[in-house]
Amino acid sequence: MSDPGLSHHTPGHHTLGHPGLAAAPVDVDALTLMLGDHVLLDRATLRLERGEVLAITGGAGSGKTALLGALAGQPVPGVDVAGTAGVDGRRLLIAQGGRLAPRRPLALQVAEVVGHHLGVDLRAALRRVADGLDRMGVPPAARRFDLPPEQLPDSLRWACLFAMAIAIGPALLLADAPCAGLDPTVRLRLLHRLADWARAEGTALILAGRPEDGLAGPADRALSLRRGRLVPSGPDGEPQRDAEPAPPGHPLEVPGTVRLRAHGVGVSYPLAPAPNGERRQLTVLHAVDLDLRNGETLALLGETGSAKATLVRALLCLPPPTTGLVAWMGRDLTAAATTTSGSDDPDPAGLRRARRDLQPLFPDPAASLDPAMTVGAQFAIVLESLRPDIAADRRAHRIAEALEEAGLRAETAARWPTALTAAEAAHVGLARALLSEPRVLIGDEPAATLSADERAGFLDTLLAARDRRHLSLILATERMEEGLRDAHRGLVLLMGRVVESADAATLRTAPLHPYSRAMLAAARGDRPDLAGDAPSALNQPAGCPLRRRCPKARPFCAQAMPPLEEVAPGHRVACHYWDMPDNGDA
Ligand code: SF4
Repeated sequence: MSDPGLSHHTPGHHTLGHPGLAAAPVDVDALTLMLGDHVLLDRATLRLERGEVLAITGGAGSGKTALLGALAGQPVPGVDVAGTAGVDGRRLLIAQGGRLAPRRPLALQVAEVVGHHLGVDLRAALRRVADGLDRMGVPPAARRFDLPPEQLPDSLRWACLFAMAIAIGPALLLADAPCAGLDPTVRLRLLHRLADWARAEGTALILAGRPEDGLAGPADRALSLRRGRLVPSGPDGEPQRDAEPAPPGHPLEVPGTVRLRAHGVGVSYPLAPAPNGERRQLTVLHAVDLDLRNGETLALLGETGSAKATLVRALLCLPPPTTGLVAWMGRDLTAAATTTSGSDDPDPAGLRRARRDLQPLFPDPAASLDPAMTVGAQFAIVLESLRPDIAADRRAHRIAEALEEAGLRAETAARWPTALTAAEAAHVGLARALLSEPRVLIGDEPAATLSADERAGFLDTLLAARDRRHLSLILATERMEEGLRDAHRGLVLLMGRVVESADAATLRTAPLHPYSRAMLAAARGDRPDLAGDAPSALNQPAGCPLRRRCPKARPFCAQAMPPLEEVAPGHRVACHYWDMPDNGDA
């Protein structure tokens, strides 16, 4: 049988370690997991009722996978298990990554897994999985049992895995990092539907993942796996702690004067000519206007395909946008950058000064470093290019200063990029950006690959540098709450268009666009009110790009693109019906 990502134990009561009977579907007593000398779990006690949904969160290496393996009756190789993990009935594990054989038609895998487990033929197995897809909200038109999973969207692959589990109907379903890699709005919608099914059918459901995955939202309760202990966790998936100061309920005062201005910034790429020879192009960013003031922090918010990364690159003129202009301190940076290509002028219209003032934070800092040079050697080249005013014998001192400001030891200059951890590489990326003593940092998810703790540490360091240097900051992220927490304003992007802009406090408490509201719901672990996936840039619907997913959509939404209009001072929304009630459930 191919590896379907679903594995099970047959019905009946099972225990690991000492035998004993479980009154609830899951009854764990003094469960201890050891990996060599390392205690992954120390005498944990856990009880789950029928229909209860539990989230277990923890960072990488915290032991989540080992715990789920023990509960599934499939101990992870090398992990010693002691104590009891009693499960009354069939248990099913959806392994990390939710693997389906990528090239094998889905129908065959359904027959193998569901048909085999239930002893039914292909037709009956497909019917049961189709019922499961109903529960997951997948419309009949989107179901393609004839296709191999590699030809299906990621969200549909996860929905199929969940539907197969639903068809089998276990007493306990364990999902390790479910829906990993999906956009938050899509991930939370699927997980809420899975939780709905578990409660309705009396299946105990355990969702395990990182604290930032929002698993606590669909769950009835959440535990955090920390240093071998299962401790109650808060809605953010982190261990509960004393209440933090409430976020500002009013807009932070926006300081300073406008320094960076983008007007009508758009980016297009040429496509292959049409059969009739007509030239075509794909526009991925549409006429964005943006002002950034001295000392201001702006959050660019959006999910996959929103073009926030494209906007970041356009603001840095790396490369210059196709249309519109970017002005730094009143100087047209777009024209200067365009002139530079093909020109020998080393500093047209102050472009070098702008490069020094506007520094990028890259999404994959490790990949942006040259593996063949030490950190210090690379930094020296940057300094030589951007700060020729710093004498060669002073460069080492400036490099040490920048590293320490980014939370690293000065000795990091002697290290090779390949020896850096992901967190160290992110801090090195920050140090490199600070080297030239810029005025603006523009980052595209610079800490996306880090764990929640590492990301928090990175953001603390970044914000400390911002405050110390009175920097302006643009941070692009799909994490709405995190992005707005320390921002003055936010810009929500959807399919390359700004659909809402407002001060951060308004976006955190009362966003008006349906897409902003769904992003905020997902960030809080709530059920996002959007259907389906985002369309590809090549297949956008006419009218509003959200209309096939939107709970407010009406026929007029297909006829006209909603303009970005000011609905309150400083608050702009691109929606025909922002002030109307929803049409129904997504
Ligand atoms: S214009 Fe229509 S489809 Fe677009 S967000 Fe508004 S209500 Fe939804």
